[in-house]
Amino acid sequence: MKTIATLALVALAASPALAQEKDWNFGDGVTPERWSTINTDYALCDAGLNQSPIDLGMPNARGDVQLETNFGTGDGTIALGTEKVQVDFEEGFGMNSGGKEFNLIQVHFHTPSEHAVSGKRYPLVAHFVHATDEGELGVLGVMFEEGEANSALTEIVSGVGQGKGTSVSFDINDMVPADLDVYRYMGSLTTPPCSEGVNWHVANTPMTASAEQIAAMEANLGPSARSLQPLGSRLLVAPD
Ligand SMILES: [Zn+2]
Repeated sequence: MKTIATLALVALAASPALAQEKDWNFGDGVTPERWSTINTDYALCDAGLNQSPIDLGMPNARGDVQLETNFGTGDGTIALGTEKVQVDFEEGFGMNSGGKEFNLIQVHFHTPSEHAVSGKRYPLVAHFVHATDEGELGVLGVMFEEGEANSALTEIVSGVGQGKGTSVSFDINDMVPADLDVYRYMGSLTTPPCSEGVNWHVANTPMTASAEQIAAMEANLGPSARSLQPLGSRLLVAPD
């Protein structure tokens, strides 16, 4: 079981060696990327019916999703690559969604946010990537709007400036809204190979980041949001 979880981690975390072999790029965030034309391994990106991100503005159900996080102050390691700013975590943190335990693997960022709400995208999003012991993936997305500086982002931006492999320490809770009401649906990785079966949670309440923090993330990431994908026949639960 551990092996499957580790495989998922490798695919998502992309070791430095894998990052150098990256053969795809984000586009303008609107035009379909057509990643399947680059590599046949990415067929699902264009053929899949359960892809991410989506516009969260048209939910077809409402309810309080049972989500509890087990976050705290922990050590992480900065991982960088083309269109990638990420912090890899040691074991110990996670979330429980609907009774299922997910272990936190890493948090990475996109500028602008990938999910939209009625067409609106935020300037920055954090994706907390988790996996169960069986390798099932679960992500918690937290949007950031411009406002007060975020203390965890201060530590991360500083670490990014020092380069990959830099150790950082911050309270993960500082990046998560106190009232954790979430949108919930089943989707995919937003990057090739666009694997489906990802348990998506997107916080309804945005956090704030300073203009300087957002600019620093944009400088390292560039445009890094995938185009919006159709909801199709999926269930999309919005918070009450
Ligand atoms: Zn992401």
